[in-house]
Amino acid sequence: MPIATSTITVAQHREQVLAALSPLPAETLPLLSCLGLGAAEDVRSEVQLPRFDNSAMDGYAVRAADVAGAGPAHPVVLPVVGAIGAGQFRASELPPGTATKIMTGAPVPPGADAVVPYEWTDQGVDRVVIQQAATTGRNVRRAGEDVAVGDLVLSAGTRLGPRQLGLVAGVGRTHVTVHRRVRVAVLATGAELRPPGAPLEPGQIHESNSTLLAACVDRAGAVPVSVSVVGDEDDALLRALEDVAADLIVTSGGVSMGDHDVVKHALAPRGVWFGPVAMQPGKPQGFGLVGSRQVPLIAVPGNPVSVFVSFQQFVLPALRRLGGIRPETPAIEWAHLASPVRSPAGRRQFLRGARNDDGTVTAFGGHGSHLTGGLAQADCLVVVTEDDTALEAGARVEVIRIEEL
Ligand code: AMP
Ligand code: MG
Repeated sequence: MPIATSTITVAQHREQVLAALSPLPAETLPLLSCLGLGAAEDVRSEVQLPRFDNSAMDGYAVRAADVAGAGPAHPVVLPVVGAIGAGQFRASELPPGTATKIMTGAPVPPGADAVVPYEWTDQGVDRVVIQQAATTGRNVRRAGEDVAVGDLVLSAGTRLGPRQLGLVAGVGRTHVTVHRRVRVAVLATGAELRPPGAPLEPGQIHESNSTLLAACVDRAGAVPVSVSVVGDEDDALLRALEDVAADLIVTSGGVSMGDHDVVKHALAPRGVWFGPVAMQPGKPQGFGLVGSRQVPLIAVPGNPVSVFVSFQQFVLPALRRLGGIRPETPAIEWAHLASPVRSPAGRRQFLRGARNDDGTVTAFGGHGSHLTGGLAQADCLVVVTEDDTALEAGARVEVIRIEEL
């Protein structure tokens, strides 16, 4: 039975999970179907952005030299020849000593090299009184100053969010080749669990981990294809795992030293690794490949805070590996503690944290892995490393933002 007795580190457990996973196949999808997915191709722009020199303001296109002397006391008056709206185009050169009305986004006509905004003029129709000089290039968005032909606008491994999709659309693409969306089966275990809303007998509780996990999966850009709950019997668990059509299974509960720890009891004989990880909360963990399809399975302990921390540390990197998204581990940020904390020796502690207006972070929750109220209020996790047992106010700590999670 692969039940480990020696403790491994958080990084080691994450590595053993990631080592067993590789990115899912790629497919080419319309842009809005790519939201949250990992790009499987580099996209280089075939066009420049802006496409052409265009006006940044509603105003008058001029030759800067013609308005150089303009000021409130000595305005420059120019005849107005025509108007150019967005979507229109004028090939003819702006005659020297004239202005043309121009709207935001409209192409600046040949010869013009500055735009005087309405606010600096009398907004005249046949002739315009200009009270302020516009220097060369003023209020003109230059062709190619944003994106040049051949620029990399999307690199493989980037997660496609609204901004990336907007840029790709802006350079004219309709589709992107992405890694297939990761399908996840969520399975909560526990004889005490009843669905939210169901009446409770003494000793029973409302089941919440499957909701927490499925929502985390959704937020990560993956799809919870099945969400189920079983009791503490091996048979029920094995049956639930039998025909799971998913790329990853996440179970909660039943992995520690108790008499009814079903996940460990049923799956350790089937080759799934279980062992202690040097962390708090979330010490008992499991990972392996199950069933005839050898679907990867991450087993996390049942306390809801442990579930969230384990999701963040192991499941999210696994989803990113499968989805071809880099980096796989969250960016490290730093903050100074607002008040002291204590932490067990030799374990990486994940406290819940709230950022203060002065940039410090208040850590709370301690080893209370059942404290779901605090988890919901937190906006970050505060990491106290394996070597630290006490940190004073002002100490610099690693912080993991969780707003998006
Ligand atoms: P376990 O890891 O199965 O020993 O569970 C640890 C603690 O988490 C126990 O207090 C359980 O009642 C609780 N728990 C386990 N699974 C869930 C769940 N799906 N929803 C809410 N609480 C749970
Ligand atoms: Mg249990």
